[in-house]
Amino acid sequence: MKIFINAGHGGNDPGACGNGLRESDVALSIGKLTEKYLKAVGYDVKLFQYDGLQTICDVANDWCADLFVSIHCNAGGGTGTETYYFQGSANGETLAAYVQKQIVKSLPVVNRGVKHANFYVLKYTDMPAVLVETAFIDNFLDAKLLRDRQDDFARAIARGISDFYAFPKPDVIDFPTRH
Ligand SMILES: [Zn+2]
Repeated sequence: MKIFINAGHGGNDPGACGNGLRESDVALSIGKLTEKYLKAVGYDVKLFQYDGLQTICDVANDWCADLFVSIHCNAGGGTGTETYYFQGSANGETLAAYVQKQIVKSLPVVNRGVKHANFYVLKYTDMPAVLVETAFIDNFLDAKLLRDRQDDFARAIARGISDFYAFPKPDVIDFPTRH
């Protein structure tokens, strides 16, 4: 299985900033750890960070990834974790649910749930895709988790991906679809 991990932002785009953290740094750090844990259990993993959304999609599509996971930090005054999928993608929704479940189980975060959105990287990738908003970088307690518990976020994301393959919906096995 080929898992594409996109660490959000990067290059000239630091993403959201708060509490002394930059989203691009946190995403890359969690991405690297997620890559390590997925590789340890035998997945083929590509970690990619770039400040151009079409390029991210092109690299994932050209690599023929089986799953796409984009890692971000939220901002704007809230708190907690939410995971997005592209509307109409049953596999994306399933993957999002497994990842979300693992994160809220292993970290003291508010469960903001699984949501759909037309985010560029969800829309223009050919495989089931999710975008994880790990926690709010501009919230003091969330930012503390983003600083001190990166390993737990990574393990949870990796477990969510493993869960997807361990307990797939029937259509994952029999009718693989582009979204
Ligand atoms: Zn972001």
